[in-house]
Amino acid sequence: MSLTIENLQASVDGTPILKGLNLDIPAGEVHAIMGPNGSGKSTLSKVIAGHDDYEVTGGKVLLDGVDIADLEVDERSRAGIFLAFQYPAEVPGVSNANFLRAALQARMPDGEEIDAVGFYKSMYAKMDELEMDRKFTKRAVNEGFSGGEKKRNEILQMMMLDPRYALLDETDSGLDIDALKVVAKGVNSMRSPQRGFLVITHYQRLLDYIKPDVVHVMSDGQIVKSGGAELALELEANGYDFLKQTV
Ligand code: ADP
Ligand code: MG
Repeated sequence: MSLTIENLQASVDGTPILKGLNLDIPAGEVHAIMGPNGSGKSTLSKVIAGHDDYEVTGGKVLLDGVDIADLEVDERSRAGIFLAFQYPAEVPGVSNANFLRAALQARMPDGEEIDAVGFYKSMYAKMDELEMDRKFTKRAVNEGFSGGEKKRNEILQMMMLDPRYALLDETDSGLDIDALKVVAKGVNSMRSPQRGFLVITHYQRLLDYIKPDVVHVMSDGQIVKSGGAELALELEANGYDFLKQTV
């Protein structure tokens, strides 16, 4: 099992952003991507999730060897791809509980109903784990949530949807240290040999709590360097100056 990206190229409004990107995440592993602003990290996560602002102009995104390029966003989600957005969207008029329930219902075989009692039990258990107040079940998805509350809510969605691959785009930004630990605990509780993670972050700090198997550096639409967890420490100490010397 793996999520494999081969020579991926993607553009926005005709401007190339991803320029032949290669990445292989075997199930069971946590890969981190770091890199300067504007290098295309969020674009990569959105292209994998199937966001339609981006035109894939070449290459492949393979889930267990099957190209998912032609699948719509919802089909990719049902196939097991989950994206926690850098800037989570608000969904006015839809309560958090109903949103999650609808998302899970959409994954049920035709004619089967989600068990309401089991659903609430599972949601409350996960909210407890994330130290989220129950009042968030009734509030509209992300509406008026603080930055940190939105990020926590993204992790709640991830935990409920139980994805095969979770892409977390700067889930740590806007979190204080206590919230960061709570989010990391949620992510770590989901680590399993069957599941992979792609964690995009600016800061080594998150990786103190979510230990990556591999760290990649992205620059100008490509992965330019990969290494172990120690690479994140090196980047924290020395920055991205080395990128300038290589070109
Ligand atoms: P990162 O997450 O690494 O900071 P992004 O993927 O957000 O980088 O952005 C990479 C480049 O693509 C930037 O120059 C950004 O302005 C551009 N870009 C990304 N998404 C869009 C979009 N929807 N419309 C126009 N430009 C975009
Ligand atoms: Mg980004």
